[in-house]
Amino acid sequence: MKQLTYLKNVVTLELDLQKCNGCKMCITVCPHEVFGFSEKKAFIKNKDQCMECGACEKNCPEGAISVRSGVGCVAGIINGIMRGSEPSCDCSGTKSDCC
Ligand code: SF4
Ligand code: SF4
Repeated sequence: MKQLTYLKNVVTLELDLQKCNGCKMCITVCPHEVFGFSEKKAFIKNKDQCMECGACEKNCPEGAISVRSGVGCVAGIINGIMRGSEPSCDCSGTKSDCC
């Protein structure tokens, strides 16, 4: 997939190396090649390319990854695809901290 960079230094992705067992599942599921692998552990190599989809967090067997997924415009686009409708984050102006 083409590597896109979103906003710099705002991604919530975190990796706890102490918990990582080196299974590489995060590397397999990440669509943006955010993770690298070195010395039997995953590491974050391209944090700004993370779109906070949450796939790595959901599939990490050790709970080593945390990311605030399902927020903002990416969630809106995914919701739209899943519903077969226009992208919408459902904020409708009711959430003061939304776009
Ligand atoms: S999925 Fe989790 S345990 Fe597996 S390599 Fe990635 S961070 Fe480590
Ligand atoms: S949240 Fe999605 S894009 Fe970001 S590192 Fe995890 S799998 Fe990759």
